[in-house]
Amino acid sequence: MSRCNSTKNLEIHHKRRDGGNGIGNAQVLCQKCHENTGSYGVRGESPPEFSEQTKAEALKRAEYRCECEKDGCHDDVEKKKMLQNLLTKRLNGND
Ligand SMILES: [Zn+2]
Ligand SMILES: [Zn+2]
Repeated sequence: MSRCNSTKNLEIHHKRRDGGNGIGNAQVLCQKCHENTGSYGVRGESPPEFSEQTKAEALKRAEYRCECEKDGCHDDVEKKKMLQNLLTKRLNGND
């Protein structure tokens, strides 16, 4: 599992729609990862907005980087290829 760690276009995501707007329900995601969450842009009840303070706290907690750790979400193709090569080498190699 790899963390995204993107520092661009960070947004504060509600982990749970019904989880309120406390820091415990906040997750820092870059725009790309945010769009990859199932609930992004889905119509329906939207959770209460985070306060500016909660947003600031969440960002600080995340060290101003995307917190997404979902497999296959944010890994770009090149990185995947590299990993694949590494794995193949390891499987075929003698060391
Ligand atoms: Zn991300
Ligand atoms: Zn992601």
